[in-house]
Amino acid sequence: MLSRYWQFSLLILMILASSCSQKSVHQQTTVPSTPPVERNSIMNDKIQKTDAEWKAELTPKQYYILREKGTERAFTGKYWNTKTPGIYVCAGCGQPLFQSETKYNSGCGWPSFYQPVDGKSIEERLDPVGFYGPRTEVVCSRCGGHLGHVFKDGPPPTGLRYCINSEALKLIETDTSKP
Ligand SMILES: [Zn+2]
Repeated sequence: MLSRYWQFSLLILMILASSCSQKSVHQQTTVPSTPPVERNSIMNDKIQKTDAEWKAELTPKQYYILREKGTERAFTGKYWNTKTPGIYVCAGCGQPLFQSETKYNSGCGWPSFYQPVDGKSIEERLDPVGFYGPRTEVVCSRCGGHLGHVFKDGPPPTGLRYCINSEALKLIETDTSKP
């Protein structure tokens, strides 16, 4: 009688143990997978292209400014004196960079803004060499394209002057036909 009881309870224990182990195996195989996917999508937001790919997409002037850190001559760019309402996006990747409301006439001959569209669209890099001495270069945070420089002689409220090459920008005009 006693041995039967033990056999029975051993059987129950075995069933319980097997169902438990099945559960834990099942959980282990289904739980992961989401975090790595999210991490990838953030990394994929950055645009990386070869020089040949950029050369094929951009005009020679755009390539010179954006990829070779060139500077257009003052008062020659298409936007230095533009007052058209709209949003200025990166000519390389289309990321929004500046709003026309923050554009002002600095008299320097390049499109000048006192503030980027948000804190993430533009990255600053110290540019230690150059004819004018150390300057702070600004680049598009998405494609790394050279835009221009930022100086501390701008108007309120920021006191900053983002001096940007027209060739690095593309103006998407505000649609004024809609009410
Ligand atoms: Zn860009």
